[in-house]
Amino acid sequence: MSSNVVWHQHQVGHQQRQQLKGHGAAVLWFTGLSGSGKSTIANALEQQLLQRNIHSYLLDGDNVRHGLNGDLGFSDDDRVENIRRVGEVSKLFVDSGTLVLSAFISPFQADRDSVRELLAPGQFIEVFVDTPLEVCEGRDPKGLYKKARAGEIRHFTGIDSDYQRPQQPEIHLHTAQQSVQQSVEQILAYLQQRVL
Ligand code: ADP
Repeated sequence: MSSNVVWHQHQVGHQQRQQLKGHGAAVLWFTGLSGSGKSTIANALEQQLLQRNIHSYLLDGDNVRHGLNGDLGFSDDDRVENIRRVGEVSKLFVDSGTLVLSAFISPFQADRDSVRELLAPGQFIEVFVDTPLEVCEGRDPKGLYKKARAGEIRHFTGIDSDYQRPQQPEIHLHTAQQSVQQSVEQILAYLQQRVL
């Protein structure tokens, strides 16, 4: 950052925006293998939030890679930068009073922790979408595992790139044993208690 850039303190702050919206703000950080169900669950949750008049915004890995992070690939360095930018964007959305749903594989614990550190205590909620590799590969909703196994995609998480399981996620979902709706209800119960 340039040493000549000084933070400008504005009159309208987080508190006022939160009052205007009428609910708390936080980041639900969905992490898990490709095909684990991050987007599906986040999408179903967002519909429920809308019905409850909760202002939310879904940042989805694939979509962000079309625009903001369109210049990044899947090397370890690019993955780190991908998550760093999304973390900063998530922080801005939280400041705006929005409940952010971020759905990214985010395979490295250190990257997830660095997003956590950007936010105030309680504002970062790690949601581990815990689905065994075999199940994700069986679902293969985008045909990506097939391509990775054929060697057409390199650095694919779970195949030839590491996934570090969250050690202490705030919310732990087991999608091989629970339906999308059950996962949504588990998250809503957590939000009702701690955030909304
Ligand atoms: P990701 O965003 O993690 O890459 P997606 O949500 O795109 O994963 O894909 C998950 C796929 O698994 C979808 O096709 C979804 O319909 C399917 N699926 C089957 N059972 C479940 C479940 N219990 N929870 C979440 N997704 C499930």
